[in-house]
Amino acid sequence: MVVHAAAHDADLSPDGVDRAAIRRVMRSKAGARLSLWLSICSRCGQCAEGCHYYASNPSPEHVPAFRLKPLFELYRRQGEVDREFLERLRDIDYGTCTMCQRCTMYCPHGIGIAPLVHAARGVAVAAGMIPQGLAKGMANALEFGNNLGVTEEEFLETVEWQLEELREEMPDADAPVDKEGAEFLLTFHPRDIKFYPQNLFNYLKLYNAARVDFTLSSRAWDSTNLGLFAGDVPTATRLAERVVEAAEALRVKALITAE
Ligand code: SF4
Ligand code: SF4
Repeated sequence: MVVHAAAHDADLSPDGVDRAAIRRVMRSKAGARLSLWLSICSRCGQCAEGCHYYASNPSPEHVPAFRLKPLFELYRRQGEVDREFLERLRDIDYGTCTMCQRCTMYCPHGIGIAPLVHAARGVAVAAGMIPQGLAKGMANALEFGNNLGVTEEEFLETVEWQLEELREEMPDADAPVDKEGAEFLLTFHPRDIKFYPQNLFNYLKLYNAARVDFTLSSRAWDSTNLGLFAGDVPTATRLAERVVEAAEALRVKALITAE
């Protein structure tokens, strides 16, 4: 299969799908690797062994190679798709894959299901078809710096609260925020602040017990990147840059992500 996408512009489907935008993304994703992977899948099904979706529900739709069908079809039709097709792509490629890459370990050809799912998601982004919850999380991340919309004030209060509790066990414990020159910058999942502050307590306890020279950042503490998960490359880049910029401004030596 030779993967390419035609270069027409301003092409709306009868049901309002911007096919020109879809083709632009298809062109950006197309290449030797994508073409090879889509061509050589022999439908052997060995990848099923590695997938947790298949382990919990061993139906044909949960064989990892099944996630490639919409992308394969998209290139075969050179982007000539409608909303119903894109809804199916969205449901399969967002709804039944965490992009963990385990299946690739079981594939005799080493086909990268996760990068292909990521490419399919990029098409969904171009068509404005990403799941609403994911879109909301990305909007939060861009506005607040974390996907659950925790404000800086709430973050600092939670750190202070957990440090107070920790000091009952470890009187010398510390939780420096925006400390310049520390060795490590810690980041974690926003649910560790919003829903499970006990997790933050445990991180602080661990790093204090290990006498690690660390700091937290008041503006870049989210270890997740929903832009990457969604297949939205510009948003993924912006979110990653925010953490890198904070790490460079604080002059830390390394970044630790905990999830
Ligand atoms: S193991 Fe590899 S070749 Fe076999 S079906 Fe899965 S992706 Fe295709
Ligand atoms: S990358 Fe997706 S399809 Fe492959 S094992 Fe993980 S969840 Fe299953």
